Amino acid sequence: MTEQASAGPSSAGTRLAGIVGWPVAHSLSPVIHSYWIRKHRLDAAYVPLPVRPGHLETALRALPALGFRGCNVTVPHKVEARSLVDEESALAGTVGAVNTIFVRDGRLIGANTDVGGFVDGLHEQRPEWHRSGRRAVVVGAGGAARAIVAGLRAEHGDEIVIANRTVAKAEEIAAQFESVRAVGLRELEAELAGAGLLVNASTLGMGNGPTLDPDLAGLAADAVVADIVYVPLETALLRGASRRGLATVDGLGMLLHQAVPGFEGWFGVRPVVDQDLRKHVLATLEK
Ligand code: NAP
Repeated sequence: MTEQASAGPSSAGTRLAGIVGWPVAHSLSPVIHSYWIRKHRLDAAYVPLPVRPGHLETALRALPALGFRGCNVTVPHKVEARSLVDEESALAGTVGAVNTIFVRDGRLIGANTDVGGFVDGLHEQRPEWHRSGRRAVVVGAGGAARAIVAGLRAEHGDEIVIANRTVAKAEEIAAQFESVRAVGLRELEAELAGAGLLVNASTLGMGNGPTLDPDLAGLAADAVVADIVYVPLETALLRGASRRGLATVDGLGMLLHQAVPGFEGWFGVRPVVDQDLRKHVLATLEK
């Protein structure tokens, strides 16, 4: 699924960025950034950069010398990247992971755009979500859940509950924020009573693995149900929510929106997440 593009033959002035990960061949980031590069007719290229564990420091340190404007960082390097950048944003520190790096005057600046990506995707698809004035419930306590709790905490005044199979991991995140509680997955349905937002930030529902399909009867009638899993795009959780007439948000919004700040910082154009991009990425996913 690799894809790379520039508006024409590359030149000495071609602006470069890419995604560092292992494996990285199935990342959708090259599809997204290459779409925007073509759309804006930029002399730029965004390439997959397969970097084995143990080689991250060498790879990141080479970026300025190779003329890269920066890169995205994905599994398994997001946490280690923090210790290798020269400076990190406050959000990257809060989340404990760097997913975007900007090269500035030869220095590496680390950021985390998953936080804004989730919230912007929610705003785009369900702008009413934060008006509910009710509890938000997040399932999962991995890297994505931490970014989502940070994003929700900044935007949402009400209580947040993290439900996770391993309660200790949820407790660790909850301790970082005001008004955030941790519970086990068995308590999920009880916590849904009257809640206004449910987000699946775990791997449940991914591919052919175990699903998340709780009884949603307790949720407020105007609740929003979001899933950040995007393969498949319509998870069992979202199907169940739709059947109940609840508003849903799929995982593509976060994926597309988290790419915006990187593209803008590397290439100097703020790209737009629109239906054409969504269709383009969906077509790639369906291949
Ligand atoms: P992660 O750090 O590995 O965390 C995985 C989470 O899933 C943990 O909370 C884990 O619980 C839970 N989990 C895994 N298997 C489970 C099972 N059988 N039963 C119950 N809980 C289970 O992963 P991550 O990086 O946070 O990513 C989570 C998901 O979000 C992935 O599907 C990823 O593709 C997706 N994601 C989407 C976007 C997007 O842009 N849409 C961005 C980032 C991630 P334990 O703590 O108990 O192990």
